[in-house]
Amino acid sequence: MMRHKLFHTTILGIFLSFVLWKSNVENLQLKEHILFQQKELEDKNKELEHLATHDSLTGLINRRFFEEKALQEILRIKRYGEGSCLFLLLDIDNFKCINDKYGHPAGDKVLQSVASILKTQLREIDIVSRIGGEEFAIILVNLDAKAGEIVAEALRNSIEKEIITIDGQEINITVSIGITFIDNSIDSYEEVYAYADKALYVAKAKGKNQIDIELKQ
Ligand code: GH3
Ligand code: MG
Ligand code: MG
Repeated sequence: MMRHKLFHTTILGIFLSFVLWKSNVENLQLKEHILFQQKELEDKNKELEHLATHDSLTGLINRRFFEEKALQEILRIKRYGEGSCLFLLLDIDNFKCINDKYGHPAGDKVLQSVASILKTQLREIDIVSRIGGEEFAIILVNLDAKAGEIVAEALRNSIEKEIITIDGQEINITVSIGITFIDNSIDSYEEVYAYADKALYVAKAKGKNQIDIELKQ
């Protein structure tokens, strides 16, 4: 009788251990699954965030994100009352002709080449964006007007010199650049954009392939 009971208790013990072990394994598997799904969700969110803030053709940040970053710089300079940045609007000259002559896909490659020149020539801290069609906006962080003018002229010059080869065809392009200065007198993005846009207009009107600078008086 006693041996019988011991036998039953042992079997019950083994059974309970098995059930416990099984539920532990299942718990671990569940945890692993949840962690995997969490990671997948985080990756998807990052992907979505990137899509919402970047231009898919060039990989540069888009207009909306640029405006956000520009406003941060404007407010930072206003708050501390010191420091300065240069605001550049760069527009490819006669880009419509490039599309017409070589086709839209070639035009896209030209846009990618310009983006890549900007990325390689400018510093990591500078803010570079494709804000629309063939128009790029740049903030050169912590630079004064004199240094900014030199950087802008160097950019214009290296784009003019670059030979872009697409499907065996060599394409040359030029750009016009409007420049203005962000100091503590600037109150809004719209204000700084208007000065740069005016400078760009002057650069185009004076014959394109040049830079112009308009400062707040
Ligand atoms: P300007 O020298 O005065 O700047 O003349 P432009 O020809 O560069 O300017 P315009 O505004 O007349 O034409 C811009 C062209 O850019 C028209 C449009 O089809 C083209 N464009 C806009 N976005 C894209 C794009 O994503 N890819 C390509 N390939 N072309 C684009
Ligand atoms: Mg243009
Ligand atoms: Mg344009």
